Amino acid sequence: MNRDRTSRRRLLLMSSLLGTGLLGAAACGTTTPAERTATEADRRSTPKSSPRNAPARPVPDVKTTIDEVTYKVDTEDPVVFLTIDDGVTRHATMVDILEEHDLKATLFLTDQYVRQDADFFRDLRDRTGSLVENHTLDHPDLTDLPFEEQLRQIGDTSDHYQQEYGRRPTLMRPPYGEFNDDTLRAAGESGVKHVVHWTAVIDEGAIEYAAGDRLEPGDIVLMHFREAFREDVERFVEEARRSGLRPALLEDYLK
Ligand SMILES: [Zn+2]
Repeated sequence: MNRDRTSRRRLLLMSSLLGTGLLGAAACGTTTPAERTATEADRRSTPKSSPRNAPARPVPDVKTTIDEVTYKVDTEDPVVFLTIDDGVTRHATMVDILEEHDLKATLFLTDQYVRQDADFFRDLRDRTGSLVENHTLDHPDLTDLPFEEQLRQIGDTSDHYQQEYGRRPTLMRPPYGEFNDDTLRAAGESGVKHVVHWTAVIDEGAIEYAAGDRLEPGDIVLMHFREAFREDVERFVEEARRSGLRPALLEDYLK
């Protein structure tokens, strides 16, 4: 396979994006103050369990680490990918909106919200062909945590989703886009194949690009389950059309 070449290309791309300095700006814009507050409140109310006392976890197809973070898919196909994060806000109309536009999305869900309403996301998955992926147990900044805690945040989430939805996540997105080498190793040891960032953010119906002023083939777009869901989805559809790209499912390209 040409995996090595692909990896190098991705690495080069990552370097060029980081070089612009814009990617960090996009990352900062992805969390509302309300979400920060909610997450901090949740963190306070979540009992810490010692990973040493956790039962041994069966992890299929273990890979020791992940080589690098995927910001953008290396493809010449005219495709763009929609990813929707967290799961704080949930309305039945959200499924209708995705169906109206015949959209599949990659859902990076935080386990604490899945536990509030697992059936909502099951229905969304079944009606749209979307897939549920890993966004940790309760949305910490993983770089604040030692390896064992990162492993718990990622591994326990994958265990739960495998049990709940019958499929182990292959993708993981670190909260706030923050990661370190321990994150990549914890993800790999949890059976994750790709740690995924993004190249554009949609919020309140507005889009912000990591670079340039339009979507390009392979771009990964981030939005959230928020009140402005319809505006955000419609903006994604409009931007894809404007750029001559068709929405595709990320998992069909990241194997
Ligand atoms: Zn998030």
